[in-house]
Amino acid sequence: MSFLLETPTRHEAHGLYPEPSTEEEFRQALAGVRARMDAACRRVGRDPAGVRLLPVSKTKPESSLRAAYAAGCRMLGENTVQEAWRKWEALQDLPDLRWSVIGHLQTNKARQVARFASEFQALDSLRVAEALDRRLQVEGRGLDVFVQVNTSGEASKYGLAPRDVAAFLRNLPVYSGLRVRGLMTLAVFSHDPARVRPCFQLLRGLRDRLRQNVPRGVELDGLSMGMSGDFEIAIEEGATVVRVGQGIFGARALPDSHYWPVICQDGSP
Ligand SMILES: *Cc1c(COP(=O)(O)O)cnc(C)c1O
Repeated sequence: MSFLLETPTRHEAHGLYPEPSTEEEFRQALAGVRARMDAACRRVGRDPAGVRLLPVSKTKPESSLRAAYAAGCRMLGENTVQEAWRKWEALQDLPDLRWSVIGHLQTNKARQVARFASEFQALDSLRVAEALDRRLQVEGRGLDVFVQVNTSGEASKYGLAPRDVAAFLRNLPVYSGLRVRGLMTLAVFSHDPARVRPCFQLLRGLRDRLRQNVPRGVELDGLSMGMSGDFEIAIEEGATVVRVGQGIFGARALPDSHYWPVICQDGSP
């Protein structure tokens, strides 16, 4: 997009995101993020209705989740099954609140995910696909899934290597409880948009190529990419889902290095 001034990342805002607590404050936070999403869509001529905002509530207390619900959130993202399960149990009185598990899953947690989650965005192994499907059959449920791709080449990130995705997708149709919706990625965590943008471009290019020949029952329209620091760039590159935590719920107490142990090779946060 050489005709654009480069859209900056916002990783430097870490620790500065205000923490809403009331319903009204959540409404404002959500409206602020939505306005930035819509502006990013307009810059590249996309319809804002084609981009879903997934609020990510990890580490935040039940009271914040309730206020977010009151402000209109009906799906929340959590990166660990343990925390998502605990919150799902605590919020049983909100039956139309749905859960998206966005972090790596071990097979021994598949049973729980099959019970309560509506969406799983970090599928990257057939063992997990098989374990999830088995439990979904027992529960009589289905699950929307995104296949996670490692677009940054960093060893610390989960996800399939781009070259392995086509073969992986061919194995998925037998798991009828899994409804494949698209691809998901985490970009390199860097201040430099020139390093972030290629991760998103890679995912989109991969999706466009794979979509020409998708296995039966597999849908690849979805591109889950972009978080608080880089969702505008992701939208410019075709994201259909952005996963925004701190930009809505406020800064987390722990630094991002807690979640992504080796976040950057160039030394920038
Ligand atoms: C925490 C998390 C996000 C959101 O990150 P923020 O910086 O809080 O917006 C997005 N995706 C995944 C997989 C996460 O774990």
